[in-house]
Amino acid sequence: MATIVQKFGGTSVATSGMRERVVGKVLACQSQGHDVVVVVSAMGRLGEPYATDTLLGLVNQAGTPSARDRDFVMACGELVSCAVMASTLRKAGLNPLPLSGWQAGIMTDNTFGDARITTVDPTYLQSLLKQGIVPVVAGFQGASSEGNITTLGRGGSDTTAAALGVALGAANVEIYTDVEGIMTADPRLVPEAKVLSFLDYGEVFQMASQGSKVIHPRAVELAMQRNIPLVVRSTFSDAPGTTIANAVLYENKRGQPVTAVAHILQVARVSIATPSDDGALELDIFSRLAEAGVSVDLINVSPEVKRFIIPEEAADKARAALRTLPLTAEFRCGCAKVSVIGTGMRGVPGVMSRVVAALREAGVRILQSSDSHLTISVLIDQGDVEAATQALHRHFGLSTE
Ligand code: ADP
Ligand code: ASP
Ligand code: MG
Repeated sequence: MATIVQKFGGTSVATSGMRERVVGKVLACQSQGHDVVVVVSAMGRLGEPYATDTLLGLVNQAGTPSARDRDFVMACGELVSCAVMASTLRKAGLNPLPLSGWQAGIMTDNTFGDARITTVDPTYLQSLLKQGIVPVVAGFQGASSEGNITTLGRGGSDTTAAALGVALGAANVEIYTDVEGIMTADPRLVPEAKVLSFLDYGEVFQMASQGSKVIHPRAVELAMQRNIPLVVRSTFSDAPGTTIANAVLYENKRGQPVTAVAHILQVARVSIATPSDDGALELDIFSRLAEAGVSVDLINVSPEVKRFIIPEEAADKARAALRTLPLTAEFRCGCAKVSVIGTGMRGVPGVMSRVVAALREAGVRILQSSDSHLTISVLIDQGDVEAATQALHRHFGLSTE
C-alpha cells in the first residue's frame, strides 16, 4: 500500500459542488488501496470571504499590519478550508482529521510571508494513517521554533504537499487545480496552449521560477531532491495531467528547443549610471539592496551602468535603500519579463535569434535580456506581454501538435 498526497488548490475547494469532486478523488485513490493525505488551500480567490487576498485586505484596511499579523490572518484561510473539507469528507463516510501545518509536523524558519520549511516530523501523520484516518492538512503554513505561525510564500500549499510527500516517502504527490496540467503557456494569455504530458523537474522548476504560477518552485525543488513524481491535473476531469519526474525516466521526444513560455508581470527596471571603475559604489548599490531585502534579477553590470529588475512593489524600498548613495537611479515601472524555457535548448545555436525574430515580427521592443542553459528571458513593456507570449509560442511551434 502506497501513500499518496493529494493537494487541492483554492478554486478546487471553493464551492460545495467542487468539494464533492474532491471527495471523488480521495475515494478513487483509496479504492486503489492507497493511504491518502489531503492538503488544501484557502477557498476561492479575491472577493470570496475566506480567500487569502480577502483576509489580507481585512488587516490592511484595519490599520498597519506587521508581517507577523499578515501571516497570522493568512494562515486562517487554509484552516477554514481544512475544517470545511474535513466535514465534507466525513459526510461521505470517511474518517478525516483537520490539522494545521504545525499539527502536521511542519516547522519553518521565522521569515514571515516567505518562510522556508526546516523540518517535517511525519510521526503523527503516520500514526493517523495506520488508524485509517485521512489527515486533512492546511497548506501554505508552518510554525517557527520561536512559536510563530508562518506562511510559505504565495502559492505555498504546493510546497506543503511536496514536503509532506518527501517526509512520508509518498509514491506520488498529486497537485489538483483548475487546468488540465502544466501547459506550454498560461492559457489565460495564450488560448491555444497545450497540456504537456511529461516534464523534467529542471524544466518545471525554471517555468515556475519564471512565473508559471501553476506550481510553486519550492515544491518542485523538494520533490526533485527525493525523486518523488509530481502529478499536476484537474480536479474537474479524469485527464491524466502532467507527470513531473526525472528526465531519465522518460524520453524527451519533442525534439524542440523550447518547451514552454512563461511571464512575470509588474516588474520595474532600475538603471544606475556610475562613474567608471567605482568598485566601492558598485558594491554599495548591491549590498544596500540586499540589506533592505530587495531581490534583484536580470542583472547587467558594466563599468558605466548597472541595470537590474525588481518587483514593482519593492520600488519604494529600493529607492529608500539607495537614497544616501551619490548616484541617480532611474526607475522604469510597468515592465514584464517573458521567458522561453526548455531542456532542448542546451547547446543549440540560434535560439536567441529566433526570440529576436519573433518579437520583432510582433512589434515588441526588447529592453534587456538574459539567459541560462535552460532559459532565455527578455524584459519588455507590460502592455506587450500578450503579443510577445503569443508570438514566441507560435514561433517555437508550441501552438501545433
Ligand atoms: P491553485 O489555486 O489550484 O493552486 P493556481 O492559480 O495557483 O491554482 O494555478 C493554476 C493557474 O496557473 C491556472 O489557472 C493558469 O491560469 C495558471 N498558469 C500559469 N502558467 C501556466 C502553465 N504553464 N500551465 C498551466 N497553468 C498555468
Ligand atoms: N492560499 C495561498 C495563496 O493564495 C496558498 C496557495 O493557494 O497555495 O497564495
Ligand atoms: Mg497555486
